Amino acid sequence: MSSDLFVVNEEPPYLQGLNAAQREAVETVDGPLLVLAGAGTGKTRVLTTRMGHILQIGAAFPGQILAVTFTNKAAQEMKERVSALLGGQPVEGWWLGTFHSLAARMLRRHADHVGLSSNFTILDDDDQVRLVKQLMELQNVDQKKNPPKAIVAIISRWKDKGLIPSDVQGNDLNGDLDRLALSLYHPYQERLKSVNACDFGDLLLHMITILKDPKHSEILADYHRRFKYVMVDEYQDTNVAQYLWLRLLAKGSNNICCVGDDDQSIYGWRGAEVENILRFEKDFEGAKIIRLEENYRSTSNILSAANAVISNNSNRLGKELFTSDQDGEKITVRGLWDGAAEARWACEEMEALQSKGWSAGQMAVLVRTSFQMREFEERFIQLGLPYRVIGGPRFYERKEIRDALAYLRVVAQKNDDLALERIINVPKRGLGDATIQTLYAHGRAKQISLYDSIQDLCQTDELRPKVKATLMRVIDDFERWRSMVDNTAHSELAGTILDESGYLDMWKADKAPDAPGRLENLKELVSAMEEFESLAVFLEHIALVLDNQDNSNQPSITLMTLHGAKGLEFDCVFLPGWEEGLFPSQRSMDENGIKGLEEERRLAYVGITRARKKAFISYVGNRRMHGSWVNAIPSRFVEELPAGHVETQTETGMYSAARSVEVPSRSRHWDSSGMRTARSIESRPEIERVSESGFSRGDRVFHQKFGNGTIIHVDGQKLDIAFDKAGKKRVMDSFVTQN
Ligand code: ATP
Ligand code: MG
Repeated sequence: MSSDLFVVNEEPPYLQGLNAAQREAVETVDGPLLVLAGAGTGKTRVLTTRMGHILQIGAAFPGQILAVTFTNKAAQEMKERVSALLGGQPVEGWWLGTFHSLAARMLRRHADHVGLSSNFTILDDDDQVRLVKQLMELQNVDQKKNPPKAIVAIISRWKDKGLIPSDVQGNDLNGDLDRLALSLYHPYQERLKSVNACDFGDLLLHMITILKDPKHSEILADYHRRFKYVMVDEYQDTNVAQYLWLRLLAKGSNNICCVGDDDQSIYGWRGAEVENILRFEKDFEGAKIIRLEENYRSTSNILSAANAVISNNSNRLGKELFTSDQDGEKITVRGLWDGAAEARWACEEMEALQSKGWSAGQMAVLVRTSFQMREFEERFIQLGLPYRVIGGPRFYERKEIRDALAYLRVVAQKNDDLALERIINVPKRGLGDATIQTLYAHGRAKQISLYDSIQDLCQTDELRPKVKATLMRVIDDFERWRSMVDNTAHSELAGTILDESGYLDMWKADKAPDAPGRLENLKELVSAMEEFESLAVFLEHIALVLDNQDNSNQPSITLMTLHGAKGLEFDCVFLPGWEEGLFPSQRSMDENGIKGLEEERRLAYVGITRARKKAFISYVGNRRMHGSWVNAIPSRFVEELPAGHVETQTETGMYSAARSVEVPSRSRHWDSSGMRTARSIESRPEIERVSESGFSRGDRVFHQKFGNGTIIHVDGQKLDIAFDKAGKKRVMDSFVTQN
């Protein structure tokens, strides 16, 4: 036998590592294929290997495969993996990316068919709103009653559904705002055209229009000839427009392979429709469905816990997962006093793991809502633990936080020009660039700061009366706030500033999906300030935090939201904040009822299944939410964790009583021996705590600023004190003396 023949017959190494079902999925290259399988069963691996296989057997060239991933990062990873499978072949010319990036690339080639030129701009959210505002002004529409952001959101939702203006039907309209949005939809599209721009929704929608247009049938035919294979990861989170685009493109070869998991559909709030999975069989006749049941990611304890939680959802296609992995460690469930204690405990655990040789790069903290990140970030910085925030800026770098800090900086130091410039027209006060330039020019000529320059110019008639009046109001505000610094608690002052400046109202009026999150972050900021002695001390802390940027490539702990963690895996995962109202999110349940709750539960499933070896779930008894303390109750998802796979830590063991507290659940609570019966929240065991510097509950103390008071709660170095005059405050123990 010649050696050539031997090579041909030998099984390619990339197939050897697959189980039978995975292998079948990889080798089924022709015809429609749906891989429907739970977390960690190798869906992404199948997709990558399948792509490599198609190239390897010569069924297609790289440019003939259209592959869609959920993030650009995932696209990059897939390119690298396929390239590695093929022995490092270059990956140029591949159609591999997110829906948006692929559709944008296509649209640039055919932009003229929808009245654009190929160098069109892609508008961001702010631009969209500005454009809608202009249209509303033209039509004299009341913008207070009909927020432009809400109009943009409605139009975007139609675009997600693949609806152009003439497609929107009566039953898509729910009330006056929808009708107004419809009346603006067409003019909005016209306006976009006239400025040679499109928004994100248009990328797909324009392409669908072009591909469907019989006048340009040669374009679709051309793509049909080009794309021999279409592949999609995270298929459960596609929206209708994405689905229509895929279907149009795949109809040529009929070789489409989608992989997904209905239990991980978590973007319903953004228009994703899990029903796309059900449509698949109908639209692609003879589709083969392969289920993968072996999970290769997680230990048995982790997988069993995840399976048990998701089994509480009624709306599922249903599947069973197993693992051949060992039991591994049980999931740790921990109740703590508050968010700060939670972060402290988690970091202790992380440090303990590090000392046993676990890498920070294999640890992740996955939060439900971004405001939860702050306490973790503070603790990471304090301990010098390297971390990175994925999918968003670090807490203090968020736009709303930087804006709020800018207000505080100007109050603390009126000559902080950069801070003043940042917020002088935020919220919008009608002060344009030209005004700012005039102010700066004046300041330069007189060698004075921007603030002084405003004061100076307001004494003259150089400014337009309206501008002058606005600027005088701004200065009056700052003068008033500054006069409050010495006799108002600084967190209270911050609240006043955000309120009186109109900054909070600006976000309250904002109908973008991220606006509520920004408001939560602002409240979190105000709470955080209570931990500092004064405004100056707080601002200094922030300056240090912002300076603490670590750009080195050392392994770092990943901090991100559960939504962002889809598709990823880590050896060890921390899931904090499992409390009713926070997770499951109250908003999600209020807005979407049982559907909302089930989507939250899928998020819990996504969270647990990110862990390979170890998962920590925690909840606190006192959560600072929306600016006030909430008596938190453990999430129903905590109760859904099966006792046999969970280890509930109580205050015995490696943690001292001063560091943790058992918190009862809604109807029953856990301890290390399993479940116990009901205990109401009122009967929460109050553990006698002693501060690290020796204070304890009931002590009478004196504070420079707030006077005399009684300690009502001790949390490490933080004391909750009921001051005789100033009311309840949280302060550091180093700032009080024993009476
Ligand atoms: P998710 O639903 O979270 O996106 P997934 O189904 O895409 O998960 P993958 O990320 O592809 O799962 O695989 C999970 C892990 O299991 C990866 O580390 C992968 O390398 C590994 N894995 C997959 N299949 C096998 C196999 N046959 N043998 C060994 N390891 C495997
Ligand atoms: Mg995957």
